[in-house]
Amino acid sequence: MAGVTDLFDRQVRDLRVSVTDRCNFRCTYCMPKEIFGPGHEFLPRDELLTFDEIASVVRAFVARGVNKVRITGGEPLLRKGIVDLVGMLSRVDGVEDLTLTTNASLLARKAEALAAAGLNRVTVSLDAMDDPTFKKMNDVEFPVGTVLDAIEVAAAAGLGPIKVNAVIQRGVNEHSVVDMANHFKGTGHIVRFIEYMDVGNTNGWRLDDVVPADEMIDQINAVHPLEAIPPNYPGEVANRFRYSDGDGEVGIIASVTKPFCGSCTRARVSAEGSMYTCLFASEGTSLRDAMRSGVDVGEVISEVWAKRDDRYSEVRSDATPRLSVPVEMSYIGG
Ligand code: SAM
Ligand code: SF4
Ligand code: SF4
Repeated sequence: MAGVTDLFDRQVRDLRVSVTDRCNFRCTYCMPKEIFGPGHEFLPRDELLTFDEIASVVRAFVARGVNKVRITGGEPLLRKGIVDLVGMLSRVDGVEDLTLTTNASLLARKAEALAAAGLNRVTVSLDAMDDPTFKKMNDVEFPVGTVLDAIEVAAAAGLGPIKVNAVIQRGVNEHSVVDMANHFKGTGHIVRFIEYMDVGNTNGWRLDDVVPADEMIDQINAVHPLEAIPPNYPGEVANRFRYSDGDGEVGIIASVTKPFCGSCTRARVSAEGSMYTCLFASEGTSLRDAMRSGVDVGEVISEVWAKRDDRYSEVRSDATPRLSVPVEMSYIGG
């Protein structure tokens, strides 16, 4: 089957599947405790897509041009049976790159099984190298050392090179930029610094909280000279830079200051099976309901993608309030 293109001629190429809306962290920029406290209601189990349903959705996307699949959440390693799901998805013909994004809290104990089940790589989220800052950001007292140990275990299990994602917020962890560059330079792991985004409705985002990509590059460049290098493939979201001394590379994801909607080929499916065509969408289309009522899920995907005209980050303006309430990052999976 031919690939499907949207109204701006963008093909659907990569898919992010959220497998749970739950998380054992309460990152202040993603699941702040005031909102995601003890009283918060997560999705009931029967509303989540089953593994068979997830596999059907993935097969339908692959038939329409997707070859990269990322498992995310919430915290995906909290989903019971996650290793079995990885096994099922790795056997779907046409999935060339199967990856997972995790906070690494459960990674050390699962890395080997995940690799054996066919996972190609993991991306680990880590926002600081010092415990006071990291604990303040994850808000559950989780220490940096456990994440660093898990990164090494995952790399040894063959899940590298590990990408380490760091969300940088003004006045919170700006110092992490140089700290993380210093730590990971020469290790073979690739840190990707992410501009803090206005996703969801709960993190109180202001443009002033964003540390622009250029500023992050200047900070690193002042200590370790950098050179821009070309993307690995068209549409790669991170801008790549290599250390001039040959000691590895870093990436910068400038979603706010240099939006990349023009080459955005990514579809997202929430844990309850809603398809979203943009990280900032407020409404999804339920693939679960389609499947459970016998409708051809592939047809639904084609129809939704063919009508897609999202380019939120390119038209975002601090002066323009959003017209609708977007979904949360922990629900849609980043
Ligand atoms: N729990 C897993 C984790 O943290 O890696 C996977 C899900 S998490 C929603 C996926 C990614 O989204 C993480 O790297 C996280 O840092 C990022 N993220 C969450 N909220 C964000 C925000 N407001 N701006 C930029 N990135 C954000
Ligand atoms: Fe959990 Fe990941 Fe969100 Fe942090 S960023 S609260 S680890 S889902
Ligand atoms: Fe893609 Fe939407 Fe992000 Fe633009 S704002 S890059 S369309 S997800």
